This record gives sequence, structure tokens and C-alpha cells, in this order.
Amino acid sequence: MMQDFVLPDYKELNIINVLPSLLNLIQNKKSKIRSLEKFKGVDKAIVFLVDGLRLELLNSLLIKEFELEKITSVFPTTTASAITSFITCEEPIKHGIPEMIFYSRKFRNFVDLFNFSFAGEAQNSLYFHGIEEKDIIKVKTFFEKNAKSGIKFYSFLPYQLFNSAYTNMTTKGSLRNYFLDYVDLFQKLKNIVEERANPLTYVYFDNVDIAQHKFGVGSEEEKNEFLLFYSLLKKFLNKIKDTNTLIVLTSDHGQISMKGKVDLSNISLLDKFSLTNPYGSSRVMYFLIKESKLQKVQEFLEKKVGKKAFILTLEEAIKSKIFGTKKPSKEFLDRAGNLLLIAKNGWEFEHEKAYYYTHRFHGALTQEEVYVPLLANVF
Ligand SMILES: [Zn+2]
Repeated sequence: MMQDFVLPDYKELNIINVLPSLLNLIQNKKSKIRSLEKFKGVDKAIVFLVDGLRLELLNSLLIKEFELEKITSVFPTTTASAITSFITCEEPIKHGIPEMIFYSRKFRNFVDLFNFSFAGEAQNSLYFHGIEEKDIIKVKTFFEKNAKSGIKFYSFLPYQLFNSAYTNMTTKGSLRNYFLDYVDLFQKLKNIVEERANPLTYVYFDNVDIAQHKFGVGSEEEKNEFLLFYSLLKKFLNKIKDTNTLIVLTSDHGQISMKGKVDLSNISLLDKFSLTNPYGSSRVMYFLIKESKLQKVQEFLEKKVGKKAFILTLEEAIKSKIFGTKKPSKEFLDRAGNLLLIAKNGWEFEHEKAYYYTHRFHGALTQEEVYVPLLANVF
């Protein structure tokens, strides 16, 4: 049914297996990601989740300090879906977060996850509607699931993201910290490495992703942003020599360069049979179509843009296992619409009435978006 796409490897080589692998290695157990097995018995681990870090960028740089492996993200390759997967170690078909903004049939409204509000409302408004965090992300974080492991979990977020409901939800069960810049971050990390305990530390930052959005995928600015981080990381590695600390760098998704836009506004058949506005992003759009007209709308879209996008019913998408291999959760079915548009190559989709993110360079299933780097070494 679908060609020219990469199916995420949910069994082994996936971002959902990174945190459990690191915990196992500290505990001298088998690693879920087999290539990390040689690091069994490390005392500490730090994982940097670098938003949008592309394999191609790393391939173009001479990285001598780490071994580079290719693993896969999840589908959709959006920040919200991938980070939720990374932190909860669950497939999107279980955690049910497709994007930062999505439609919920249950609430009959658009949820803005980052603001924890209905779309257009003030920040944190969901609390006033009696909706709790566990109604949005039902699955527990890795840190909560392993609270009894005896391992101390730390998380580090940029100061400007520290107080959002979403980052709060995705660091639950860890000792939360913020950092002002890389200098501040590495000073704080050094203090943790010097502890006698066996900590596992998670660090997230989005500077590389921001540079890609501002200046483009493959821009000098993107490269320099990463090199700025990397030069300070190298200094840090020198300072923590012989501490038996495993350092890992990975990413939530890759990025692809855009080659053109397709406008889906004012298509009468689509507008007439849609039960709500389209949502998602310019790379993956979700539609909720009147059930009796679903096939008709699918065939129409297939004819119109089938060369530039996959048009799948939710049922077909579930069968193809792109969202994961498990049984769909109630939350997933509530939010995933019933018809999907997944961009091929570098195509972007627009719709004037959509609640969505425009100018995304990721979200779909091309190899540039699905494959992410896994850099690892012990110091
Ligand atoms: Zn991202």
C-alpha cells in the first residue's frame, strides 16, 4: 500500500528504547538497543535529546568522540509525539499525542498541549474545565515507572521552557532543573557526575531546531548552533574523564528540505463532509470526515494529491503499524481523526481553516525524518 516510506522500528532501534537501555546498562543488565550492550556496567549516564538533530548534519561533521548509529523516531515524526514517546517509552498508538495541537472528539475541542488549554484560550485553561494532566497524557513517564529502581533521575530544560505544562508532564518523576545557557548546563552536569550516586540525566534543548526553522535545514546557522554546543561538550568530556559515565546524544526526529506547497483550502467536497477543521501540521494532516463519506473523500484526495501524499484512513494507518505495534488506546482513537494525509518527499500542505503548524520540516515518514542519530561513548 505505501512505498517510499520508512517504517519506524518499534522493536529495537527506536527512541522509545533509549532511556530503558541506559537504565539497564547502569544496572548491569541487558540493553534493549543491542549496540549499546558494550557499555554495560557504566556508573552514570547522561542523554542529550537535541531537538531536530539530523543524521545528515552529523555525517557532514567529523565526530571522533562517539560511535554513530542510526535509530528510528516514531510516527508522526513531530516534536510532541516523539518526545512523549521518548519520555514515556510508549508508541504513539498508546500515548495518543499526535501533535502539540489536536482535536479531541471527547472534549469536542482543539487541545493546545503546550499551553495546556483549548486552542485560543488562556494558558492552563484546561484546569478550569476540570481536565487534569492525566486526562491528556495517561501513560506514566519513564522516571515514574522506574521510581523504585534506586537510580536518581535528573532532567534539564532550557529556562524558557521550564514552566510549561507540557515540559512539566514530560519530566514527572525526575529532579527537575533548568539551565540558562550551555556554560550553566555543563557546570550543573559536572556537579552531578561528581556525586557518588549513579544518576541518569536527561537533557533537552531546541536551539538547533530553532536555527533550522529560522535559517533553513542545511544552513550555516544550523551547523554553527550544533558546533557551539559540541565544542563545549568536548571540554566537558575532558573534565569528566575516567568517571565511567556514558554520554549519549540523540534526537526526536530528523528534518527534510521543502520543495513546494499544496493548498487544500476551498475544496468543497472536503469542507462539506468534514466534521471539524483539519489539524496536525503541514507534513501530516488529520481529518475527521463524516463516516458515510469517508471513502468518497479519500478517493477524491487520492486523485488530487496522491502523487505528493499518502491518503490513508485511520484504519489503514493502524494496520500498517506506522503508529506502533500495540492495540490503539482510547486516547489515540479519540485524537487521530479518521483520515490522514502524510506528505511524500519535501511537500508541504496548507489549509486556511486548519488548526496546525505550518512550515514544518518533519512529521512524515521519509528517511530524512524517521532516521535519527544515536551517538554514544563512555568517558
Ligand atoms: Zn522536534
